[in-house]
Amino acid sequence: MKFSELDLKPEILKALTNMGYQDLTPIQEKTFSPILSGRDLLARAETGSGKTAACGIPLVQMIDPSLNAIQALILVPTRELALQYVEEIDNIAKHTGVAPFAIFGGFSMEIQKAKLRDRVHLLVATPGRLIDFLYNTTEVDLSNIRTLVLDEADEMLKMGFIEDIDFIMSSLIHKHQTLFFAATMPGEIERLISVYLKEPIRVELNKEQLSPQSLVHHFQYTEQRDRLNALIQYLKREKISQALIFCNSRHHGEKLTKELERKFKSIGYIHGGLEQSKRTSIFERFRQKKIDLMVATDLAGRGLDFSHVSHVINYDYPYGLESYTHRTGRTGRMGRSGIAMTFVTDQELGILKSLLKTNRIDPVWHGNIPDLRAVHKPYGRRDGKKFFKKQSRPVSRVESPQLTGMLSTPLS
Ligand code: ADP
Ligand code: MG
Repeated sequence: MKFSELDLKPEILKALTNMGYQDLTPIQEKTFSPILSGRDLLARAETGSGKTAACGIPLVQMIDPSLNAIQALILVPTRELALQYVEEIDNIAKHTGVAPFAIFGGFSMEIQKAKLRDRVHLLVATPGRLIDFLYNTTEVDLSNIRTLVLDEADEMLKMGFIEDIDFIMSSLIHKHQTLFFAATMPGEIERLISVYLKEPIRVELNKEQLSPQSLVHHFQYTEQRDRLNALIQYLKREKISQALIFCNSRHHGEKLTKELERKFKSIGYIHGGLEQSKRTSIFERFRQKKIDLMVATDLAGRGLDFSHVSHVINYDYPYGLESYTHRTGRTGRMGRSGIAMTFVTDQELGILKSLLKTNRIDPVWHGNIPDLRAVHKPYGRRDGKKFFKKQSRPVSRVESPQLTGMLSTPLS
């Protein structure tokens, strides 16, 4: 379906045409009417499928620019995502008179206050900064909000965020609609959905397919001590446009960055401990392709849209099935091809086995293929509780033909 077939404000249509958006993506097609009708909604679709505009277009359509009040509130888990989200809405709303704005930590509250006092119709916020405003200032008035959105909803309902979300939701006492967008929806979050959404319409596309089909999943099985070398060799032989290389801790990321700096030019490292201005400038340089290889913690794992990233590399194996989906979802977006490469050691074979099964991944192996049949589930049950078993080494290894070099088509 084309945007021109919808009953959109001509100003929005003009902007979408300029952005090069002609056809609605499947999630945009399915969610447009339910959002306009005022219903609560749970929308789940794979990474890179256009969920931002799926939400942004109907919101801009519904907002009345002649009423100077915040009419829609969008909560996102990171500052970078807040910026990216508001940028997309800015583009959609360009000719409409609808004023979007983002508030997030690490940036002057005074400047944000001035803007809020002036004119904001659609507010994108990280929960922490919003609560800071609600507690300590009078600038954020929630009384005209008609729509509340949780982007990366499963992340927002997890520990660490859930109390903030509870507080914000309890401040919205009047009637409004609530929209949840996500690529993953783990079972334990499912229970909370009925608490926060009222008779929601559920749009769940390709339920079994968490990652786009344009993403190919590569794996390399290495000894712990050989992993750095394996990564370096991989980076040398692959045709990489840009790569995001994930580590599980800041300390580990720092060590890896130092090692890579000896061999490669143009390395960046992004983590939560950096000052906000530094974070923003590194992301900006990465977006502008001034950095080729970016080492990152999971800070960069969710929601961010990088169009040049050809490879996502899990140097450290990600914690949890969702984390794998989100990290690797930074490439292969909107039908573009992408490669995910994950280094696996003996320790992770159990969780790898569940990942391949649950996410229906057809792995492409580099080098030795571990014999996963010999690997047991990563956890057992004792007294009804899960516990992690010690992993036994796989009994046999099958040698694969040297696939390297032929596997990946060069990406421009
Ligand atoms: P998601 O939130 O589902 O991971 P995003 O909203 O970040 O995905 O969108 C991914 C990319 O697709 C962005 O670069 C965005 O500009 C682009 N995009 C979104 N909708 C359309 C569309 N209808 N036509 C073309 N490109 C689109
Ligand atoms: Mg998104």
